[in-house]
Amino acid sequence: MKIFRCDHCGQLIFFENSVCTRCGRTLAFLPDRRRMAALEPLDELRWRVVTRGGRGAPYRLCRNYRTANVCNWAIPAHEAHELCPSCRLTRTLPDLSVDGHAQAWYRLEVAKRRLLYSLIELRLPIHSRDEDPQRGLAFDFLADAPSGEGAVMTGHAGGVITISVAEADDAEREKRRVALHEPYRTLLGHFRHESGHYYWERLIAGSARLDAFRERFGDERADYAQALQQHYDRADDGGWRDAYVSQYAGSHPWEDWAETWAHYLHISDTLQTAAACGLSLRDAPLPGAADLTRPLRGSFDALIERWLPLTFAMNNLNRGLGLADAYPFVLSPTAIAKLRFVHDTIQGAGSTP
Ligand SMILES: [Zn+2]
Ligand SMILES: [Zn+2]
Ligand SMILES: [Zn+2]
Repeated sequence: MKIFRCDHCGQLIFFENSVCTRCGRTLAFLPDRRRMAALEPLDELRWRVVTRGGRGAPYRLCRNYRTANVCNWAIPAHEAHELCPSCRLTRTLPDLSVDGHAQAWYRLEVAKRRLLYSLIELRLPIHSRDEDPQRGLAFDFLADAPSGEGAVMTGHAGGVITISVAEADDAEREKRRVALHEPYRTLLGHFRHESGHYYWERLIAGSARLDAFRERFGDERADYAQALQQHYDRADDGGWRDAYVSQYAGSHPWEDWAETWAHYLHISDTLQTAAACGLSLRDAPLPGAADLTRPLRGSFDALIERWLPLTFAMNNLNRGLGLADAYPFVLSPTAIAKLRFVHDTIQGAGSTP
């Protein structure tokens, strides 16, 4: 992700901020301009970007910003929508009167907006259910029934991404991470992974890339339920490390793709942040790879050359703070070849800016 500054006072601000911590101005992300902005009120509903002397175009805060404080995006005032492009994709919410669900909703929307930022930056097509009722993208945030029967499964089907609300609870998610022997389990990771399934259907299924996909990831027509069962029954012998980004990726070609896709989003987003911060590293295995500020120019080799030294630095920094590794993965040449395939697919899909 890029880094952003307050238009009024120049303070560095986070993508999630709604108020500048230095000057107190209202902040919002403007998806049409792909940047954070400091706003000043025009009238009861409309705001404009704080500019030096100039008059910025009017914006309205997303309804979920104004009334629920779970969003920090704004849309051009002339648009008919009440909700921003991210909130419009949320189709189902859990019962917000239940303790903890409002907080979970906030966390889910924060992670979803990070996903959408990446998709927009990568120029991937995003079609809502309104635009494409059969296959359009939508999110259902579902809570388990109080009876405890039929636990909600996080997953994707026909454009609809379901996220279990329980995953927004840090203690519960950590419990699941340990139980499933996963090195990494985050809300953002779930969103990125499930978006991979969505884009597999948009960019691979029925496309000219399907044969090349099968060559690298295997034949996705293998029985899915059976493959998952075998995955959960199998003891971890570490054999997956030679070919997959994660153990779960070894369960079925679809999961391999979704896991690899998620890693690609982790990598491209984090590298963009490193470049935006002007980061360079003194020691790197490849000459030139340590300068993260140079443009990537769409080259996968440049991307991966920069990523490996950066993960070493990030993991070491985390260890210095007594935290778990930020990127607890080792990428084998086969896994890197799969990442390259995802990269090429995304580059080929890059449509409207
Ligand atoms: Zn400020
Ligand atoms: Zn919104
Ligand atoms: Zn999956």
